[in-house]
Amino acid sequence: MTQSTLVCLESSANHTTYDPHQLMNLCPKTGKPLLACYDLARAARTLTREALATRPPTLWRYEEVLPVRDDRAIIDLGEGWTPLIQTARLGERIGCLRTYVKDEGLNPTGSFKARGLSVAVSRAYELGATSIAIPSAGNAAGAMSAYAAAVGLPAYVFMPADVPLAFRAECEALGAHVTLVDGLINDCGARVREGAAEHGWFDVSTLKEPYRIEGKKTMGYELAEQLNWTLPDVIIYPTGGGTGLVGMWKAFDEMEQMGLIDSKRPRMVTVQSDGCAPIVKAFHEGQEHAELWPNAKTVADGLRVPVAIGDFLILRALRESGGTAVAVSDEVMMEYTNLLGAMTGIFAAPEGGACLAAQVQLLNDGWIAPDESVVLFNTGTGAKYAHLWAR
Ligand SMILES: *Cc1c(COP(=O)(O)O)cnc(C)c1O
Repeated sequence: MTQSTLVCLESSANHTTYDPHQLMNLCPKTGKPLLACYDLARAARTLTREALATRPPTLWRYEEVLPVRDDRAIIDLGEGWTPLIQTARLGERIGCLRTYVKDEGLNPTGSFKARGLSVAVSRAYELGATSIAIPSAGNAAGAMSAYAAAVGLPAYVFMPADVPLAFRAECEALGAHVTLVDGLINDCGARVREGAAEHGWFDVSTLKEPYRIEGKKTMGYELAEQLNWTLPDVIIYPTGGGTGLVGMWKAFDEMEQMGLIDSKRPRMVTVQSDGCAPIVKAFHEGQEHAELWPNAKTVADGLRVPVAIGDFLILRALRESGGTAVAVSDEVMMEYTNLLGAMTGIFAAPEGGACLAAQVQLLNDGWIAPDESVVLFNTGTGAKYAHLWAR
């Protein structure tokens, strides 16, 4: 048995609680995401700074605040515990010396989607799922396929027909059943819902099941641990469905309740492409929910999310943190992806370049001061986006 202290699932809309030891998607009453709750007083007894120093270098080092109870259900391909790189040359170049990059491209399957899907697929497997399905325009499908393959769960992937080859190839090589859909990610989502009803597939769409966010929140734990139990002044996060941003915000509260950090929080910044910026628009209009972004278009596949089911959770975290939201063009994003590469040695996904573009914009605006500490998330490897350098 692990030391998981999971006690219930709670509706993010009205705090109704549910027994967590059953397969669940959204809150059946409100249709909103369910969030995992832990016995943090109990977790704090074993999840100490000293204990962590001796644990394995994967996200499973935080087992007390993860949902899996049977350790035989853990599917571990080495996810998490990615390096936090202080970027001397980049920091000097842009005039912000304490600039760090959390390099999530080093995860299994080349993106931080591995975090969420390692935990979600492990938990679904533990609870008896016999097949799993996902709609995805990019990295999530490959990550799901990998964890499904490791335990032999049949995996069903629905992707827009124009998905770049690398993303589709990965799923096929990992043994998933891939269907190309003439449409966008929401059309793929509809196909998954049909299949779930008809064939009993378990739907692991982001925030439609409760544990991908638990995997992604470990980025927040790692940041604190790697910065010696402090947090940076600013975190810049390329936001699609927002799972990682909402997850880190949850992690900070858990850590404070366990006495691992104090009450100081980073200012959280969402960056999106100006071809698909529903959260940026809603943030600046003072809305609680984001409207569907029509004709969503960007080379950053992870950001091509026209409607996010957790929109209100993202907007709440941005506002509570004193953060902001920034849109950048694809052209500027690519320019900064190349600058990031040339100054750090990290071949970043365009989503990573978007963070740097936003940082430079916010430095110019005076919203970030040159002596502040800033963490950029490079959420994936550039290798899967090699087509963007075609000529
Ligand atoms: C999915 C994805 C994102 C967006 O992540 P969310 O947590 O869903 O907002 C950003 N970058 C890459 C490379 C992705 O694959």
